[in-house]
Amino acid sequence: MESTILPDWAPDAVSVMEVPPSEVSTKARRAAELALLAAELALPPPGPPPALRVRFHVPYERWLADIYEEVQPGTEPFLVGKRWQGHFAADVPGEVWIRYGQHPQAIASAVLHELTHAWRERTAQARSMSNAAKEDEAVRWAEYMLPKVVAAAQAEPGGLSDDEYYG
Ligand SMILES: [Zn+2]
Repeated sequence: MESTILPDWAPDAVSVMEVPPSEVSTKARRAAELALLAAELALPPPGPPPALRVRFHVPYERWLADIYEEVQPGTEPFLVGKRWQGHFAADVPGEVWIRYGQHPQAIASAVLHELTHAWRERTAQARSMSNAAKEDEAVRWAEYMLPKVVAAAQAEPGGLSDDEYYG
């Protein structure tokens, strides 16, 4: 059931639900895939969690629930910070969640950011780092990697145009 108690880590939390993978657009999926690939190649050992899944969420609405329940029964709403473009939970290391409906560049940036968190939690330094330091690291890593992901996307046959990445 949907919780009515907002967690203290996200006082402005909103209720969201998963976009069924079959409903995710090709552009969104490809942006996430390329960001994942780039992070796997570039992050130092121990690398990101193996077989990591990128999942998308949309704001929970009753009418969406009706649609999605037909597509994928059992998808439960859950809470995320209202302004978060993505999130990662250390106790579920095999997945990152990304807000759907963003520009492909923003999706790639959010995946790179959350993957940096997922990678950091696998390292010995994770316990001694402050949350602020981890956040700063994720922001800087995503900024560093994003141009490489965009270049890869544009180089693909039938790849994304400049407008789609720099709209
Ligand atoms: Zn972060």
